[in-house]
Amino acid sequence: MDNKKLAEFLFPHIKTTARQYREEIYPKRELPEGAMVTRFAPSPTGFLHIGGVFTSLVNERCAHKSGGVLMLRIEDTDKKREQENGIDAILTGLENFGIHFDEGVTAQGEHGAYGPYTQSQRAEIYQAFCKELVEKGLAYPCFCTEEELADIRKRQEADKAMPGYHGQYARCRDLTFEQIEENIKAGKSYVMRLRSPGKPGGRIKYKDAIKGQIEMDENIADVVLLKSDGIPTYHFAHAVDDSLMGTTHVIRGDEWVSSVNIHLQLFQALGLKPPKYAHVAPVMKEEDGSKRKLSKRKDPEAAVSYFTEEGYPKESVLEYLMTLANSTYEDWRRANKEMDMNEYPFRLDKMGQSGALFDLKKLHSVSAEVISRFDAKRVADDIIGWAEKYDKELYDCLSSDGDYAEGIFSIDRGGKKPRKDIAKWSDARGYCSYFFDSLFVREESLEFDAETQKAALEKYLEVYDPNDDRDAWFDRMKSICPSLGFASEVKEFKAAEPGTYKGHVGDISSMVRVAVTGRKNTPDLCSVMALMGEDRCRARIKEYIKNL
Ligand code: GLU
Repeated sequence: MDNKKLAEFLFPHIKTTARQYREEIYPKRELPEGAMVTRFAPSPTGFLHIGGVFTSLVNERCAHKSGGVLMLRIEDTDKKREQENGIDAILTGLENFGIHFDEGVTAQGEHGAYGPYTQSQRAEIYQAFCKELVEKGLAYPCFCTEEELADIRKRQEADKAMPGYHGQYARCRDLTFEQIEENIKAGKSYVMRLRSPGKPGGRIKYKDAIKGQIEMDENIADVVLLKSDGIPTYHFAHAVDDSLMGTTHVIRGDEWVSSVNIHLQLFQALGLKPPKYAHVAPVMKEEDGSKRKLSKRKDPEAAVSYFTEEGYPKESVLEYLMTLANSTYEDWRRANKEMDMNEYPFRLDKMGQSGALFDLKKLHSVSAEVISRFDAKRVADDIIGWAEKYDKELYDCLSSDGDYAEGIFSIDRGGKKPRKDIAKWSDARGYCSYFFDSLFVREESLEFDAETQKAALEKYLEVYDPNDDRDAWFDRMKSICPSLGFASEVKEFKAAEPGTYKGHVGDISSMVRVAVTGRKNTPDLCSVMALMGEDRCRARIKEYIKNL
């Protein structure tokens, strides 16, 4: 067979050669030694899985930690999976989580010198590489219909042979030029297949940067390279794109591990250097004592929109994902509380080989910790931004007075032991409702009888001075204790015979707290009252007394 003639016959429109793409159009990247070029390559399904954010974070850390490049490539060769606006949803999701790409597709279009980064715009490039494979006798057209393929599968089942288009079952493998010409002239549809150089029984080995040494059967199947519309399969597009784009490390979901034999063979057939592979185990969920993949269908937290809707700041989600990525991250964080996450010496070979458990409770506590380090303005602004979309009533309250809002979140913030009541912005309403009359509900009450509380609160109203600082505020509480039969010191109360006192100063302040806020537990009450202002505090106490 004259391969050159066949190549020209099949791809007459392809003028730019694979060699030109390799050597001229996509020059080698000039990067420092050790720089990693990585990519996140989602399909435009409109759904960004939290596992996708995890994988993109791992890619991002590897690229940016090493002074390399992170690309975003859109893999839209499977039109069946594509959703309208499916790219936008993914781009917005990634942006919301603060993953910064140096090259590739963005909401504003593409940027970077190694594009196009959208596979559907690269058809001619793949065809040029396929043409070259035909020239080398390593690819051929296959005219088998669905029925014929089904028939092959049946025969393989009967023969107990390996499934796939290979060996004696690969019936289009040895068609002559004339047969091919005749089929094409008759308008028969065809795909392009690799003429696999693999031998049955052959084994290959490669070192996965996460999973370690892996040995598997060599590929023997004549896999499809181009589908009947001239669009490549994932396998072929991966090999062509990742070599032209200079990807050094293909870091992707581990559902692709079993295809590495195909991929390595494709790189070999194309005469291209393969990248290093790192296969990331999926994010898991624990259910009834066993682990399963976090599922788009069953688990709301599989979708990144869940985190946006609940109001988890991106820093929290990334911080949590880092704890899943490297088991030493948490120790590092404990030792470096204030440090930027990006300072952590992230390593691929420290990643777990089996799927990390995604635990919402853990995310919650990591997030509360992260938020406790934000300043009040950031917290107030983010909550207002979140509430505008998800809690209109809260938004109206907070946005009507920005200083008041910031004041709320500045109480007990900073210092060595900041409070950790807020883990997500949707916790904010519960946290701050009592600061607003329109949101206020009485949630808790005290054991003390009505008479005792009434006496204490009336007394307090007599002495309450809104100008008191923290010490004066507490001294004033103490000052009313003796006349009410309460101990002004907790110590005193504890040392006394039971029955000597009705309670101690802490109980008096609890009564004031419950009267003013409707809760037993709040941040520093003196600060709360100062922010709420005298009128509101008095009104709350009076109303409480009335209803006792
Ligand atoms: N488009 C592929 C997927 O969504 C990407 C795999 C890869 O990163 O190569 O699974």
